[in-house]
Amino acid sequence: MKPSKSEQLVLKGISGAPGICIGKAYIVDREGVNIIKRYPISDDMLPKEIDRFKHAVTKAKNDHAHVIESLDEDIGENLTILETHMALFKDKMLYGTTLDTISNEKINAEWALRKVSRKVKALFQQIDDKYLQARVNDIVQVSDKIMAYLVGAQDIKICDINKRVIIVAHDLSPADASQIQLERIKGFVTDRGGKDSHTSIVAKSLNIPAVLGLVQATTAVKNDDILIVDGSTGTMIINPDEDTLFEYEERLARYEAYRAGLLRESHLPAVTQDGVSLNLMANIELVEEVVAAKDYGASDIGLFRTEFLYLDLKRFPTEDELLCKYKELVELMTPNTVTIRTLDINGDKVNPYLTAMEEANPSLGLRAVRFCLENEDIFITQLKAIFRAAAFGNIKLLIPMISCVEEIIQVKQVISKSILQLEQEDKIFNKDIPLGAMIEVPSAVIMADQLADHVDFFSIGTNDLIQYSMAIDRRNRQVAHLYQALSPAVLRMIKMTYDAAKNKGIELVMCGEMAGDPINIPVLVGMGLTNFSMNSVSIPAVKRLIRDLDAEKAKQNLKKIMNFNKAQDILDFILKEYQAILPFGETDE
Ligand code: PEP
Ligand code: MG
Repeated sequence: MKPSKSEQLVLKGISGAPGICIGKAYIVDREGVNIIKRYPISDDMLPKEIDRFKHAVTKAKNDHAHVIESLDEDIGENLTILETHMALFKDKMLYGTTLDTISNEKINAEWALRKVSRKVKALFQQIDDKYLQARVNDIVQVSDKIMAYLVGAQDIKICDINKRVIIVAHDLSPADASQIQLERIKGFVTDRGGKDSHTSIVAKSLNIPAVLGLVQATTAVKNDDILIVDGSTGTMIINPDEDTLFEYEERLARYEAYRAGLLRESHLPAVTQDGVSLNLMANIELVEEVVAAKDYGASDIGLFRTEFLYLDLKRFPTEDELLCKYKELVELMTPNTVTIRTLDINGDKVNPYLTAMEEANPSLGLRAVRFCLENEDIFITQLKAIFRAAAFGNIKLLIPMISCVEEIIQVKQVISKSILQLEQEDKIFNKDIPLGAMIEVPSAVIMADQLADHVDFFSIGTNDLIQYSMAIDRRNRQVAHLYQALSPAVLRMIKMTYDAAKNKGIELVMCGEMAGDPINIPVLVGMGLTNFSMNSVSIPAVKRLIRDLDAEKAKQNLKKIMNFNKAQDILDFILKEYQAILPFGETDE
């Protein structure tokens, strides 16, 4: 499969983040998944192989001990989990059996470890005992750590890469992606990943081209291969020939000129041809993104994904630490508004130190508000920090993944407790801030008219709404083709939410990636939506389209659009009707 030096190979994946980059490949296989191969070990080499395994275990164990030592605060149950891991490194079932497997089957340590950990995992899963089933996760984590030392993958830390390279990885978590050093890394490609996954959202915010779901990137690419990554079309070219290189250098120059043109207009108002004024806000993951958001022409921060503050930590942040971040953000944005979304952890945004747990379907599991309601102290800490920060500027409070009325009622009870604590502690705070619910679960759409009685605003999270309503895992490339924002089902749900908000007189925002793609804007404006929050890099292109759009015409067209029953028909209609104002695919401009 590997191309010879002169052989060009084109791979198609999923567009993760737009833009083009050309550079040398740097392979980062954090899990070592693809590099585990089975090979025989001769009798005379067996002692060496056994030593290699023992050495990897010792190193992984020492590393783990350092992590435990470095925990400067009580992290409760999670500390117990980490201590359990300590014992598992030398556990007979994992350690002893792997050693036996190497000797008896005369195979390499990686293969033996993988074989044993899979067996142990299967065994535990069969036992009808919740506690023991939960131990599966511990075994997987410990064996992963040993494996990382065996395959030599533990040395690579994304934030330490200091070459101007293109990262090639089997998979990157959103936390990994957020560590990318912009000035060093040109772009990245992964074998795994799906449409609008959080990894792709992070890549867009960083403004680096990314292609996900390439399946065989890590096997087809060698370190230092020349790569072209076209994030806009989801293409990666390995060892391009001269003509291709020349073509892409030209495309890159055109793309940069196009982006520069957009940027020059980014501060113009987002007003349609017929005078409808729209509000374009930015989604951010880190406080550091605020300057870029303003440069791209964002009026407000419409979504602050606070979980990114938690993803790299080994303990939960304190109220004062959170306050410090929120205050900084609010002060940077004053007099404009910052919508702070409470912790949306788990799902694909996991921190193994904070929320170690084994869930068969993490996206359907203890994620977001469900996690917060189960862990009230963590929730209260965050809420108190938000109310305290609200004394310094305009904050809106947004709750993710609300799926029923009971949940928002429970949230309000926790809010009351938080306020009471702040009063008792005599803290300076502002409790009079708008409360919003994310509408991103189909049940919330259906109950939107009732939910509207309990909140001040809705924010439609189309990334999850599409995932949950179409039953598509956002991270799964196999089903990415079904992930269509313009599906009639999705449009009907948006319309239902819009109608519920309008009838109850509450504000409506859309903050999913759908709002950041110009092609969707005529439909959304036609429906009557006026508040959009998006990845800030998307703002200039959306703004340009809005400035060319006639809202009244969009309203008329919506009637036709809502009569189509296939996403492709809707897409074709939009492409035809708005061809004069739609960007042709950013690279072709
Ligand atoms: C969404 O689901 O659309 C959303 C904005 O939230 P996130 O992408 O963080 O899940
Ligand atoms: Mg969401």
